[in-house]
Amino acid sequence: MAGIPQLGDTVLNFIDGRWQEAASGKWAERHDPADRSVLAGRAPDSSREDARAAIEAAARAFDAWRAWPAPRRGRLLFDWLAWLDANKDHLAMLLTREEGKTLPESAGEVRRSLDILEYTAGFGRRLGGRVLPSEDESIFCYTNTQPLGVVGLISPWNFPVAIPVWKLAPALVAGNTCVLKPSPLTPMTAAMLVRGLEEVGLPAGVVNLVHGDAEPGAELIDNEIVRGVSFTGSTKVGKLIARAASDRLLKLQLELGGKNPQIILEDADLDQAVAGAVAGAFGATGQRCTATSRAIVVGNIYDKFLERLTARAASFRTGPGMQAGVEMGPLVDERALSGVARFIESGRREQGRFCTGGEAMQGDGLERGFFFPATVVEAQPDMEIAREEIFGPVLAVIRAADLDEALRVANAVRYGLTASIFTRDVGRVFQFAERIESGMVHINRPGVGGYSHAPFGGIKESGYGGREVGDAVMDFYTETKTVYVNYK
Ligand code: NAD
Repeated sequence: MAGIPQLGDTVLNFIDGRWQEAASGKWAERHDPADRSVLAGRAPDSSREDARAAIEAAARAFDAWRAWPAPRRGRLLFDWLAWLDANKDHLAMLLTREEGKTLPESAGEVRRSLDILEYTAGFGRRLGGRVLPSEDESIFCYTNTQPLGVVGLISPWNFPVAIPVWKLAPALVAGNTCVLKPSPLTPMTAAMLVRGLEEVGLPAGVVNLVHGDAEPGAELIDNEIVRGVSFTGSTKVGKLIARAASDRLLKLQLELGGKNPQIILEDADLDQAVAGAVAGAFGATGQRCTATSRAIVVGNIYDKFLERLTARAASFRTGPGMQAGVEMGPLVDERALSGVARFIESGRREQGRFCTGGEAMQGDGLERGFFFPATVVEAQPDMEIAREEIFGPVLAVIRAADLDEALRVANAVRYGLTASIFTRDVGRVFQFAERIESGMVHINRPGVGGYSHAPFGGIKESGYGGREVGDAVMDFYTETKTVYVNYK
């Protein structure tokens, strides 16, 4: 593959330092979700055989890569950072054209990826272990961190730059070799990330890229050479993977779905709370694991909150992500659109009251893409739309009598990724932070986003096997070895 991927290009697998087709010769096309007549790109539809070749290439590259001093591995990641920074506008454009989010959102995702890479590359000079107190006169005891070996990285389409970067960077700096299996919906950004690694001189076989869907993904779980798999995606597939992996006790990190609440108490700053709900629920078209999908409103602020929220949602500008002034892009594909429509039907059946939105958008060329408007629905906590991840711009508004009831409702789902509260009462802030069942907590800010050096992840059915990003991520990509030296 020459140069960096352009819109509409054919991209290839990258195995053992060579760009190549799938062994089967099969291809998958990806179209722009804002206009399905535009080809975003074409990539191999790989099978287990391609994944096997990639795993074996990674295994061959491992000894030489782990022998690189860690600061040198870190330096290569800083070179990758510089390359991505120089090409960031192109990367953001590809991201918008294949995934759909608005161009400013794509630029934000790329910025965050660069920041995470900057923090993680520094582990090249921070990795290491501890010297422990000795129980004996002549024993020196220390711990050391070592790479796992070959790791599989399986990523979703909704953050197709940030998630591969936040998996690849810690895996590489720790000395692992990798097989990246991105979502089949976002092959172009994945190819560009790997192209960057090739450009800055990553040795052949250290990172291998296999496009495709469940088949090559399943090979990463089943193949005994693979020593760890970091997966981000749906809870449904995460559970399948956990079951398959348990058979050989494969080390796993799973980042899964969410049904994230925002609680609004009576003393909240209403403008701030409405802006927070809108950013949390409709940003990235609601296609975030951290999307706010339940607003739980306490006391007599309810009517005012709902009125302002509905007005703001009704005026939310939806359109192609490349268009200036657009606030929300399309859903990612036909399946996502019909998935959201199914939840809307279920909400109507269960007698949710739709305040705005609720119908796929037509006219002005919008029928060429997968557009769905910002939707607000009054709901009861036991309705399906108030319990299950919708992964679209739909916000369920629920009434609660007090903080206790709001917390009960917030915690009564199987997910536990992120949560937020709007209040000026410091006592209730701390009660909330203590009692909410989620991996991340935000006070007087939307429940989305996070710092590039802070642990990211959830509890309950939202996460399994340790956090990503920050220092915590290194626990997954390393093994601890305890060494006793008798020096007498
Ligand atoms: P998905 O589960 O359908 O697919 C995720 C990845 O797994 C893709 O690369 C897919 O090809 C692969 N895959 C599918 N079946 C597989 C199998 N049997 N074995 C191995 N790999 C397989 O998810 P998606 O639709 O791409 O992404 C959306 C989901 O991701 C949402 O549920 C969202 O909440 C979640 N997500 C979570 C986080 C987080 O950090 N918690 C972040 C982003 C997205």
